[in-house]
Order: sequence, then C-alpha cells, then structure tokens
Amino acid sequence: ASTSKYLTGDTAAINEFIDRFDVFLFDCDGVLWSGDHLFEGIVETLDFLRSKGKKVVFVTNNSTKSRQDYQKKLASLGIPSEVEEIFASAYSSAIYISRILKLPAGKNKVFVLGESGIESELATEGIPFLGGTDPNLRRDMTQEDFNGLADGSALDPEVGCVLAGLDFHVNYLKLSTAYQYLARGAKFLATNTDSTFPTAHSFFPGAGSISVPLINMTDQQPTALGKPSQAMMDSIEGKFQLDRARTCMVGDRLNTDIQFGIEGKEEWEAEDAKFVPAYYADKLSDLRAAQK
Ligand code: PLP
Ligand code: CA
Repeated sequence: ASTSKYLTGDTAAINEFIDRFDVFLFDCDGVLWSGDHLFEGIVETLDFLRSKGKKVVFVTNNSTKSRQDYQKKLASLGIPSEVEEIFASAYSSAIYISRILKLPAGKNKVFVLGESGIESELATEGIPFLGGTDPNLRRDMTQEDFNGLADGSALDPEVGCVLAGLDFHVNYLKLSTAYQYLARGAKFLATNTDSTFPTAHSFFPGAGSISVPLINMTDQQPTALGKPSQAMMDSIEGKFQLDRARTCMVGDRLNTDIQFGIEGKEEWEAEDAKFVPAYYADKLSDLRAAQK
C-alpha cells in the first residue's frame, strides 16, 4: 500500500495491526527512547507484546556499542532483553565479515575506524583487527608516518578489509591509513550510512559521515551493513527463521528503518512511494489501547 494507516486512538486498527504480525523489529533511538530519555509506556508496551506471544528484536544502527553494551543500556532503562534479541550494526558487520565475506587466510585482518563496540563484536567472531581504539593512532601524523604509509612499510599486508563506523577520534592519520589499505585493494565496508545521529537537543556527525572522505578519495561506495541494508535483514531472518510477511519493522527514520522494512516485500507494492510505512502512530505506547 502506498498510504499509511494511522493507529493512534483506533482500537480496531491496532488489533488488526497486532494480529497481523508475529515478530516486531524495533529501532531503538527515536522509538524506545531519545538519548537517555525512555519514552512513556515503553516497558509496558514491550511486556504487552511479549505477553501476546510476539517476538521482539532490537535493531539499531548505533555502531559504537556491542550487543552486550546494548543489553546493559536496555536494562538500565528497565527493558529486559537477551543478547540474542539485539542486532546492532557492529554485530551485523562482524557476522557479515565472518559468514558472507569470508576473507582468505593471509588477508583476513580488518582495519577499523570506530570504537570498542566494533572491536568486541569482531573479537567475538574471531576476526583479527587493527586500528579502532589503538592509542597509537590517536595523534598527529608525522613525516615518518607519511613515509611508512607511502612505501607500505607501516601497513599490515594481511589487512583485507576496512570497516568504517562511528569513530570519535577520527583524524588524518587514521583516514590516511584506511585509504592506503583501500588503495591496495582492501574491501570497503561501513557499519551504517546514517549521515547524522540524534541526541536530545541536536544532531551530530554519524558513521556515514566518517566514511565520506574515503568515498571521495576512492570513488567507491562501501557495502553498508546497518539498516536499510538487506544483509542485516537477511541475518535477522536467518537467525529467527522469521516469516517476513508477518514481521513488522518499527522505526522513526524513513530512509533507514522504513526502507529496511519495505525492501523485499513485493506484496506491499511500495515502488511508487518507496519509504512510506504501512502503519504509523504518535508513540509506541499507543498500541496499549488494543484489546487484551
Ligand atoms: N548511530 C549512533 C552513533 C547513535 O548514537 C544512534 C542513536 O543513538 C544511531 C546511530 C541511531 O540508532 P537507531 O538505529 O537506534 O535509531
Ligand atoms: Ca531511530
């Protein structure tokens, strides 16, 4: 459908909506909370859906956190969860590298632009990496660095892939190093392509903006593993053996969450209005108006 059904205050529509799906994939920031502020009625709404036998999965593009970090964040907000119910873009990237990309021996190291959440997910999958939070890259570039990068002596010949996520310490040395690997044929991946991410009062540069200089330098687009990448959807589908027609993606951003939910659903015939959600509501807790 190219029109959206508005759910708030419409009990019959809410009942039909809830009955239509077995699995709810929840975007986190903007749907469950904003920054550190949990929206009203979220804990109760998730409990309500679970009590009706619905499977709940948390799907976030935030690449700075591992699934364990997210489980802690959910718990701190009063939301119980299993690590297995959490899909974050760092995890999605790690499983893409280990299960789909399958880097050959001798070229299996990943150069990371990003924070510890990426490193811990790579480590869990047994993927060797460098860069990331290495303090030796958090500094100004020297003439020696220029020389070593130019002749390759400062590069690890086993790097076969560059993974760009949100790196709060991005600098010229890291970008130059990543570029040299890409120029030597490393695969180019991005955890997600969000140009910005929201905080309570403003937006800040997102992971997608960290990879822009590399896109500009190489004239290549990275394979992105967060929403709306269908690689992420495929791994969620594989893990839960879910029926996509009975799975609902709940999100706030049209070009990430809603596109993520729509692609691959021919039955929604969404080509003419690509990123229009099938249903929308003012807030998630409006679903509690359903009949128990
Ligand atoms: N990336 C970062 C670094 C973030 O902090 C956030 C939200 O907090 C996001 C992406 C978007 O996350 P979500 O997909 O949960 O809306
Ligand atoms: Ca969001």
